[in-house]
Amino acid sequence: MSKPTGKAMGKGGPKQSAPKPAGSGSSRSVVPRGVRPLAVKKQDGIIVPEGYTMRKVEPAKNYDVVSFARAMNDDFAPRLQKLFEPETEAAVTAQKTGIYIGWRCPEFKHDCQRLSIVSKCFCGHILEQHGKFSGNSVRVPCKNGGCSCKAFAWIPSRPEDIGEFWHQRRPDFDPSTWRAKCRCKHTHEQHDPTGMRRCKSRGCSCGHFDSNFLCAACDRHWEDHETFFDTEATRREKGLPYGEAYLPFADMPDLRNIALTGCDSDESRYKALTQGEGAIPMGEKPVGNDAPVNFSVPGSRFKPVYD
Ligand SMILES: [Zn+2]
Ligand SMILES: [Zn+2]
Ligand SMILES: [Zn+2]
Ligand SMILES: [Zn+2]
Ligand SMILES: [Zn+2]
Repeated sequence: MSKPTGKAMGKGGPKQSAPKPAGSGSSRSVVPRGVRPLAVKKQDGIIVPEGYTMRKVEPAKNYDVVSFARAMNDDFAPRLQKLFEPETEAAVTAQKTGIYIGWRCPEFKHDCQRLSIVSKCFCGHILEQHGKFSGNSVRVPCKNGGCSCKAFAWIPSRPEDIGEFWHQRRPDFDPSTWRAKCRCKHTHEQHDPTGMRRCKSRGCSCGHFDSNFLCAACDRHWEDHETFFDTEATRREKGLPYGEAYLPFADMPDLRNIALTGCDSDESRYKALTQGEGAIPMGEKPVGNDAPVNFSVPGSRFKPVYD
């Protein structure tokens, strides 16, 4: 189901082959056939949708926007808002509660995904169905009857989360049935939520979950990542963004406003968050946003693994 089928997806590529990087001048494979590409321009070496201004960016989210814009060209703002809604709401909640839940590779100075109580765990249950947690939690076990999950571990629950935008264009696509998969072709829910995460599917010899997709933010496998519970203080210590810097597109006002309100010129929600009563703290700028970013993959954010 999650396997790309359209010719435009670069069918038949070898394992882990990536489409050409954005900006290479070639047509990007993320655009389904028949979809007119969005006008893009190059700014400071970064491809941005025409009409949008970008400053220094968190590269991960920038490339997400590019592939997304190219696939969705028409309703860019409302669709971008929808794409980032889970992360925007997670960021707003984190600032209010002081509990930041992020999914990232342990050495990273940014989160690949901002999480909230509705985020899904590998065990198939959302965080809300797990035990109580705080900003100092390390393992948050599942409370759902019969579930053996001992520690919440985020798993993508929407194909967009792994850069697979074309599903939305298929008339028969049902988002509620989509599941992230292992290379053994079985879903995360068919794997043991504890230990090595063996496949439980009868006759399958898979000994541990090995994602057949790569992180849309960093191009690494799911299993290279961990879910972290942080407080503002621990994030400051670790050099991770917090406060307003934790919002999606914190350094790109137009896109940040779209994520918050659906409109690039509407600053109302941002102002309410940063200046109103109970305003979120103005965090120090994370190192990664102002310094040259040491990011291993300068090209595509979109990298399906074919099998
Ligand atoms: Zn569970
Ligand atoms: Zn769980
Ligand atoms: Zn497997
Ligand atoms: Zn299997
Ligand atoms: Zn990642």
